[in-house]
Amino acid sequence: MSMGGAMVCIAKTDVLVVGGGPGGLACATLLAQHGLDVVLIERKPAIGPKVCAGGITWHGLIRMVPETLIERAFPEQAIFSDRQQLVVRRNNPIIATVSREKMGQWMARQAEDAGVRIWTSTRLVACGEHQARLDREGRGECILKYAHLVGADGSNSRVRRFLGVATENMGIGLNAMVPKDLPRMEWHLCPRLFGSGYAWIFPHSGVSSVGAYADQRCCSALHLRTRLLQWCDEHHLALQATDLRAGWVNFDYQGVRFDKGYLVGDAAGLASGLTGEGIYPALVSGQAVARMILDPAHPADELARLVRKHRRHQQMALVAGRFPQLGAVLMELLLLLLRWKLIDFHALEMAD
Ligand SMILES: Cc1cc2nc3c(=O)[nH]c(=O)nc-3n(C[C@H](O)[C@H](O)[C@H](O)COP(=O)(O)OP(=O)(O)OC[C@H]3O[C@@H](n4cnc5c(N)ncnc54)[C@H](O)[C@@H]3O)c2cc1C
Repeated sequence: MSMGGAMVCIAKTDVLVVGGGPGGLACATLLAQHGLDVVLIERKPAIGPKVCAGGITWHGLIRMVPETLIERAFPEQAIFSDRQQLVVRRNNPIIATVSREKMGQWMARQAEDAGVRIWTSTRLVACGEHQARLDREGRGECILKYAHLVGADGSNSRVRRFLGVATENMGIGLNAMVPKDLPRMEWHLCPRLFGSGYAWIFPHSGVSSVGAYADQRCCSALHLRTRLLQWCDEHHLALQATDLRAGWVNFDYQGVRFDKGYLVGDAAGLASGLTGEGIYPALVSGQAVARMILDPAHPADELARLVRKHRRHQQMALVAGRFPQLGAVLMELLLLLLRWKLIDFHALEMAD
């Protein structure tokens, strides 16, 4: 690794975690709770903000986060396809919404309480053998030597590239927070506009997330934006193109443990290729990788369960993406099976 330029510091740690999203924070906290020295770097000035609809599920995270973090909770899900509409009801909330900013700050407090050193405004520039070059905005560069490296740096992961892991299966998500308290949580399967993806309305408190998710093979971010705006017009939702923020969703999972380091969450490609759900997979994989670092023989059963679900979602997304007409038929079939209670909404979630 080239180390040109003036270096302002050389530091050392047991574990360098790159990325302060849910995956990195979950991993760092568990490691620090077990006595390891952990540095977590985040390129943004604050932990939390992320282009995201903020949906968490009952089987996944709703019961694990404090109630104060929940903005709205929905025991009903309204699902629309070209030919059908359906409301799925349960006694408990199926999905709730959280502010990513508040959730990130809550997780960061837990990490700091456990002893994690969080360095914000700090970007990974390059990696070498057990050392990384960091750019600490306004504070110059730093060489950090580590025993273990964890890439939790999201779908466009620099650590993943350093580890030599290629990425083919990517989704694109577009999100806008509209200043409206919309009444219900909605999923719109519309193959004409979104292929195997969908548009959503996820109400928060005082604002609602309106967005769309699609496989990048179905359409580019630009096309998805045009189609989402068209869909909003058709549904009388006032949305400006400038309100929309885009984010990649990596669902190309190839493992978490590699020769030179580990990957978790979106960096590992663990988001669902079908729905884009990735907060729960990030937390589960972050904790699983922490346990593997603490005990290399850790069986990681929780990760194996997640990977099985991930593969099922990926197969469905790939079939629907490759054969769009079949995909449209499968979507109608999915609604019928949900209506007849032959499958549960749970099948669409990443948690078991
Ligand atoms: C539009 C959209 C809507 C979504 N809605 C939902 C939803 O409702 N529910 C759900 O479960 N999932 C949703 N997701 C997916 C979810 O946001 C991600 O799967 C989840 O955030 C992954 O967590 P992570 O910790 O792996 O990565 P991230 O949350 O992406 O965190 C990675 C962090 O690494 C930092 N970073 C990147 N590069 C560097 C670097 N070089 N140096 C230092 N730091 C770096 C980034 O700034 C970022 O903070 C959505 C995604 C999109 C795009």
